[in-house]
Amino acid sequence: MAVFEQIDFAGHEQVLFCHDASVGLYGIIAIHSTALGPAAGGCRMYPYESSTEALKDVLRLSKGMSYKNAIAGLPLGGGKSVIIADPKSDNKGELLKAFSKHVQGLTGKYWTAIDVGVGPKDADILAENCDYIFARASQYPEGFNPSLFTALGGFTGIRATAKYLWNRDNLNGLKVAVQGLGATGSELCRQLFEEGAELYVSDINKEAIDYVVDNYRAIQVSVDQIHAADVDLFAPCALGGIINDETIVDIKAKAICGLANNQLVSEEHGIELKKRGITYIPDYVVNSGGMMGAGTRIFSKPTMEDSRNRVLGLYDTIIELLSLSDKEDRPTSEVADNMAEEILMKTT
Ligand code: NAD
Repeated sequence: MAVFEQIDFAGHEQVLFCHDASVGLYGIIAIHSTALGPAAGGCRMYPYESSTEALKDVLRLSKGMSYKNAIAGLPLGGGKSVIIADPKSDNKGELLKAFSKHVQGLTGKYWTAIDVGVGPKDADILAENCDYIFARASQYPEGFNPSLFTALGGFTGIRATAKYLWNRDNLNGLKVAVQGLGATGSELCRQLFEEGAELYVSDINKEAIDYVVDNYRAIQVSVDQIHAADVDLFAPCALGGIINDETIVDIKAKAICGLANNQLVSEEHGIELKKRGITYIPDYVVNSGGMMGAGTRIFSKPTMEDSRNRVLGLYDTIIELLSLSDKEDRPTSEVADNMAEEILMKTT
């Protein structure tokens, strides 16, 4: 399908298809908006079944980045990139190096970083040929992963949600289901466990589950039932699309606050969650911690403390969003979109 007819094309400024036959690179960079500043958003490596599927993903994700960066108050626009490949490929390094030349060619109009399949050490490989890479392992103390900022944002979002809905100042005994125990989900579990939350978890990777079960006294739930767990709050931290026609009817949690991108399959699912009395914290609001922590390095030199403090500011943003949603009797997803669109419109 041609780009302009793609259902997910939303006035993107530029879409760049990147190919390098010598290493088998097939990648796409989507720049949704540079109204607020250079487009910024991670690079995902994933074995998409078709280029149409990859295009759909990058178009949706890049638009989400415009909204995320706007609500996060960052002087950054929205962009995202995908490389169609298995991140376990033997030639991952070659693919990253070939891809980064395309990012360099945009001379700073687009900055990229980590995402699913591309970690902080990979970001250092991207940076070998490119000046426009952030969230690199070498920018942080040994062992620190910038995804930890995202996880801190998730934890902050859950604290704000618990305060708003249940007037709780602590999470003691709060039942939380976490789907996906990777860089963000596992760290979120650690913080929740330390605050006394009861964890129910699932992942397709047994090692990831074993770690969280052994260290954070979590209870394993099957991959196809985690959304239906009888808990207070559901935190999707795997891939997108978990809130859909099939899953929504089974959700028992009273709130959804997780870090995965594009959790709602469509806007209608945001409306349906409200009808069902389920409070949804829009994904791009709560998962902006990574951009707040790491993306700020594009335009400033924050200390770790500055970065953490900025992420902790999500508490107030989420309380404000929930209050507005109640006051106006509108779904949180709609309220957040309007907040972001207003910020974007002011600059154009
Ligand atoms: P990750 O690749 O480190 O972890 C994802 C985990 O989900 C893996 O352990 C994987 O095995 C698991 N998983 C995949 N499919 C699953 C399924 N069907 N059921 C249960 N588990 C499944 O990724 P991450 O960095 O933790 O990111 C998770 C989500 O958060 C993604 O949607 C990503 O785009 C989003 N996000 C991440 C960041 C960040 O800083 N890392 C920032 C913003 C948004």
